[in-house]
Amino acid sequence: MAKCDEGYLCELCGENVDHITESELYLRYVVGLIDPETLHTTQERHIKCNPILAQFIVDAAFPQTQVEGEFCKERMDSDFVAEQEKLITRGWRRLREIEMQADADLPILEYPLPEIQQRLRDEA
Ligand SMILES: [Zn+2]
Repeated sequence: MAKCDEGYLCELCGENVDHITESELYLRYVVGLIDPETLHTTQERHIKCNPILAQFIVDAAFPQTQVEGEFCKERMDSDFVAEQEKLITRGWRRLREIEMQADADLPILEYPLPEIQQRLRDEA
């Protein structure tokens, strides 16, 4: 979602996803859950509209998300949760960096976290 692009609509709530820092699609991309090839064919969503993912962002600048039921992180394996929090929080901070560098025209392949970029290069 470069700044020149039209906004994309969230698949879940139907509202515009205005900022990359709100984008669940790009969050999943920077942490390696979506491949570059499928990025443009995957539906956009707000991070907040996917609380199961959002609950792993632990940053004062991101509103804390509470999930009800079996997918709440308090019910998950604590090692898994620690790992996810580390990764997803880093991914979200990466989105903030990208947003701040919006004028730098960063190539989309350089969006992901360093180890994900490395993996993409190895696979290429
Ligand atoms: Zn939404």
